[in-house]
Amino acid sequence: MPTTYTLRSPVPTPARHRAHWLEDADFDALTPTTLDEDTTADVAILGGGMTGLWTAYRITEADPRASVVILEAELCGSAASGRNGGQIHSWYESLEQLTTVTGSPEWALRFAQQSADAITEIADMQDSGVLDAGLRLDGWIWTASASAQEEAFDPVLRSCEAAGVSPYRRVDADEIAERTGSRVPYMGIVEERAGTLQPARLCRELRRILINRGVRIYEQSPVTTLTTGDVVTLTTPRARVTAARLLLATNAWAAALPQIARYLYNVESQVLVTEPVPERLDALGWTSGAAICDSQRQVLYYQRTSDGRVQFGRGSGVVVYADRIGARQNYDAGQTPRLLAEFHRIYPTLADVPVARAWTGVVDCNASHLPLCGRLRGASNVVYAVGWNGSGLAQIPAVSHLLASELLDPHDQWWKNPLMESPRRRAVPPEPLRYVGAQLVRSAVCHVTDREIRGERPGIVSRSLSRLVPTLD
Ligand SMILES: Cc1cc2nc3c(=O)[nH]c(=O)nc-3n(C[C@H](O)[C@H](O)[C@H](O)COP(=O)(O)OP(=O)(O)OC[C@H]3O[C@@H](n4cnc5c(N)ncnc54)[C@H](O)[C@@H]3O)c2cc1C
Repeated sequence: MPTTYTLRSPVPTPARHRAHWLEDADFDALTPTTLDEDTTADVAILGGGMTGLWTAYRITEADPRASVVILEAELCGSAASGRNGGQIHSWYESLEQLTTVTGSPEWALRFAQQSADAITEIADMQDSGVLDAGLRLDGWIWTASASAQEEAFDPVLRSCEAAGVSPYRRVDADEIAERTGSRVPYMGIVEERAGTLQPARLCRELRRILINRGVRIYEQSPVTTLTTGDVVTLTTPRARVTAARLLLATNAWAAALPQIARYLYNVESQVLVTEPVPERLDALGWTSGAAICDSQRQVLYYQRTSDGRVQFGRGSGVVVYADRIGARQNYDAGQTPRLLAEFHRIYPTLADVPVARAWTGVVDCNASHLPLCGRLRGASNVVYAVGWNGSGLAQIPAVSHLLASELLDPHDQWWKNPLMESPRRRAVPPEPLRYVGAQLVRSAVCHVTDREIRGERPGIVSRSLSRLVPTLD
């Protein structure tokens, strides 16, 4: 039976809080086409972030005759895909979760390998001039900067060993200092075929390639309702798209659909970039474009940008009440001090470097810490892929193969893959319980993180509460 869902769309970001990457990729120069007339398509894609763009890329490769329409509320890449940390690394760190969710060590390995292949694919595209994503394969360095973090990598190394793969190598304090310019992180592991890219530039490049391939991209065209049926109808303020199949790629905004919302919780992540100080970073010996992470519970990620800025990001853990994503999720000023404190802890000699810009993005999480992929109940022509949990740059191009396969239905190698419709999902509590619980857990996580960073042992209550982050266990 046809069902109509009312959708929400992003609140536009004021220019001063727009992600640095969007400015750097000159998004202001883009000329969007809005949807002004009703149209039809074989496949409609709702959401022009990396999920929508990569899936359109795969579809047009597999079937150049397929008519594809992308509908985007703002500009393609202006949400999470253009405002993230730019860290690209494989899914080998999630082998255990992949095995749990797919129920198959072979499929888990295959998805992890596919994500590593996606990094190589982007590198090859860049080397051959197909696109310029600013990719720098200078490694992903996952570090510990406090004794409580020293065992963080062990389960990942163990699961890789058990699977017979060795994508990581241990690094000591000297090597970390040589590659990051800091002696604060003192042990860790590195994945060498990983690194950083300019995420907004990648989105802009994919957008250009897709337009050249004949994909119709309608931007500044927020979809207000989605009606399921033999064909799917997407309504925007001025016109409608009807399509035989739909990919729902709206990330955090997919929470407007109750059957998805029950598994999702959306949290803020904060990012800042400094003014360019290349000579100061050179002096520290921080010359590469490595992606660097700290193992604290509030994921901390940082890099030296190609123009010599410092970029720092941190998962704040602030949960969005009832998934009502608003202006605060474009810039949450209250979270900047905690992020700055970490920047200055890792690089004390850079404490005087001015921050050029700070912004916020929304990370769509769920208990499996892996994307939720499936078909809408009661509408088998609607495929969805949401809940990337803050890891998408290599994971999305990997999973987009199977999304394209599901949408084109060619019964290829991805047919009956166990990531689609995995029964291993767990609902999160309904509001307001979810929000209240999340607030409690967050304050415990902040307390535990701060104490562990100082080398102190947090109290048992905080430790216990901080472990209540949703998981499948
Ligand atoms: C701050 C931050 C840092 C991150 N850092 C990293 C990192 O370093 N490495 C990494 O791998 N991953 C990182 N991630 C995760 C990564 O950015 C995401 O996994 C990825 O961008 C998700 O892509 P998407 O296309 O699913 O979502 P989005 O990019 O959010 O795209 C969804 C699109 O849907 C559109 N939309 C929503 N509702 C509507 C509607 N009603 N009508 C029309 N359009 C609509 C939105 O405008 C948006 O453009 C980070 C995320 C954030 C927020």
